[in-house]
Amino acid sequence: MGPESMIETIHTLVIGAGQAGVATSAHLAKRGVPHLVLERARIAERWRSERWDSLVANGPAWHDRFPEAEFAGIDPQAFAPKEAVAGYFETFATSRALPIRTGVPVTRLDRHGDGFRATTPQGVIEARHVVVATGPFQKPVIPTVVTDPGITQLHSNAYKNPAALPPGAVPGGRRRLLRRADRRGAGPSRTEGLPVSRPA
Ligand SMILES: Cc1cc2nc3c(=O)[nH]c(=O)nc-3n(C[C@H](O)[C@H](O)[C@H](O)COP(=O)(O)OP(=O)(O)OC[C@H]3O[C@@H](n4cnc5c(N)ncnc54)[C@H](O)[C@@H]3O)c2cc1C
Repeated sequence: MGPESMIETIHTLVIGAGQAGVATSAHLAKRGVPHLVLERARIAERWRSERWDSLVANGPAWHDRFPEAEFAGIDPQAFAPKEAVAGYFETFATSRALPIRTGVPVTRLDRHGDGFRATTPQGVIEARHVVVATGPFQKPVIPTVVTDPGITQLHSNAYKNPAALPPGAVPGGRRRLLRRADRRGAGPSRTEGLPVSRPA
């Protein structure tokens, strides 16, 4: 019997274990709703591998957190680095034994009777309800402002640190930056600074 023909049934399926999927799972668990979370990679994968090295949370640790769990080991006034944010979600999930299965991508979701059928490489899950928590930024978009193939364009999704950039890079595609670069006759390949996140 191949994995495709293995069928599991659950009341509610949550797809994705970022902060939305983890929070949804915690609420479902509190209410005793049988559910399963499928995460294609690791808990909070976007924070781990799809952000730049120096990223920190937008807000201070006292604020950017779930209501019932404080950030351990971080000054409440400080901005948690991205790895700490990912670790926070992981600890939150494991300490509550949330039913999260990692390394399982959902490759297809279909309506099935009164519910849904989700397909994964490990088998099929049928659920009455599905919460799609796969994140708001699915596909990186690079605007076609620059057509010269000699100019490197890198989406923030793939950007890690300044070492990955050629000298004289413009961070972001914001019109203000491009206009400023253009006014200098530089085109959008001159230095305007480097991506930074929040001040510490
Ligand atoms: C550069 C940047 C900085 C940000 N900084 C902050 C910040 O400081 N504070 C803040 O609150 N928000 C910040 N955000 C917004 C942030 O993206 C969201 O707050 C948060 O990550 C959204 O959580 P989420 O669970 O909805 O999605 P995500 O964090 O994107 O999680 C989605 C999860 O679903 C998984 N997944 C995707 N597709 C599948 C699939 N087919 N099958 C199984 N699993 C799947 C992914 O691997 C991922 O783990 C930032 C966003 C960006 C782009």
